[in-house]
Amino acid sequence: MLVHRIALVIAFFSHSVLAQSQNMSCQWAVIGAGPAGIAMVGALLDHGVKEKEIVWIDPTFQVGDLGALYQNVPSNTMVRSFRKFFLACRAFDIKARAHQFELFKRDDGRRCPLKEVVDPLLHATQKIKRRVNVVQGTVNNVARECDVFVLTAGDCVIRAKKVVLAIGAHPKQLQHRGLCQISMNDALDKQKLRELVCPDDIVAVFGVSHSGMLVLKNLSELGVKKIVSFAKKPLCYAVVQGAFYINAYTGLKGVAAQWARDFFEKNLPNNLVKFFNASGQEIEQELAGCTKVIYAIGFERNAIGGLPDELLQNYDTKTGVIAPNLFGVGIAFPRVVRDFSGEQVQAIGIWEFLRQARQIARFGGQTS
Ligand SMILES: Cc1cc2nc3c(=O)[nH]c(=O)nc-3n(C[C@H](O)[C@H](O)[C@H](O)COP(=O)(O)OP(=O)(O)OC[C@H]3O[C@@H](n4cnc5c(N)ncnc54)[C@H](O)[C@@H]3O)c2cc1C
Repeated sequence: MLVHRIALVIAFFSHSVLAQSQNMSCQWAVIGAGPAGIAMVGALLDHGVKEKEIVWIDPTFQVGDLGALYQNVPSNTMVRSFRKFFLACRAFDIKARAHQFELFKRDDGRRCPLKEVVDPLLHATQKIKRRVNVVQGTVNNVARECDVFVLTAGDCVIRAKKVVLAIGAHPKQLQHRGLCQISMNDALDKQKLRELVCPDDIVAVFGVSHSGMLVLKNLSELGVKKIVSFAKKPLCYAVVQGAFYINAYTGLKGVAAQWARDFFEKNLPNNLVKFFNASGQEIEQELAGCTKVIYAIGFERNAIGGLPDELLQNYDTKTGVIAPNLFGVGIAFPRVVRDFSGEQVQAIGIWEFLRQARQIARFGGQTS
């Protein structure tokens, strides 16, 4: 009873517990608490922004899509890169507790199930959530009034000098009429997919990148009647070259690469047929015999009220600046970099998000 009372008192005085109906003002508002939002709030705190000058908004604070959808998906990143992310940010306060997490018990040069990354990300969320102002809700509108942004989240109105959007993305879709669609997010999780297919299904899969290959692997292991794979580009692998990776961001890695090499290229399962650069007519013909379809063809940014997509899509791909004092970070606003071969690619991954976030914390601090 006493412990419960003390907890209530602490909660009352903490920045982090807010009534859902109130007005507040701050320097920085960060929208989204996926890996990118976590990195952003961590970077602001490390940069010395005052705790009470940060408002962090998310409906669940459960590590975004990584926490909700991808825990059973194998990582494409090496354990060492994840560790670098966690240890680089002081605000995550993870060093002393690292031994508690599976991720820190693993071999540096291995990959891991994403669940092992979600656990320390949840820890980091709790650590920084205690320090800043938190609004549990969804921002449904962002408006500009003179030199401040006005954010509406339910009954809560937040006025912020600077806003960072870490709002995530969802799988892109095509429209093929008459076919039952399985969402790519469900198909990536073998346990979920098992409940959505039956042995008589003929399933079309569009895309052969990391996600597409994992979906094909899951379907093949679950044993549906036939899988029809459509690809537009040839397979691309990430290859270690001395200290560098060729195709580091776009190439297949880990479990997906292994399955592609062993099965998709060499020992194609009997029930899998593949089409490369099929014509519209060929696709229609094949789809006529399919019962279900899965689109694994990339991601598009989530929308947010008050900010038209034409504005968001013109963000600066080096700095994350969308407009004065408005920034984007994470999978919705990836940095564009040149890879080893000189090609321009999107740099997606949690270590990249932290680099992006630090740049925004530094750059945004100068523009106040
Ligand atoms: C299959 C797969 C495997 C991946 N594997 C790796 C990997 O191995 N290594 C790696 O580094 N990366 C990996 N990634 C990439 C990346 O880390 C994840 O996609 C990650 O979830 C992106 O983080 P995010 O914070 O940008 O977006 P999200 O995780 O989508 O988080 C966005 C958050 O913003 C919230 N939000 C959205 N709109 C609003 C609003 N209006 N108001 C309030 N909150 C809002 C959402 O509720 C959510 O919590 C993988 C991605 C996929 C799809």
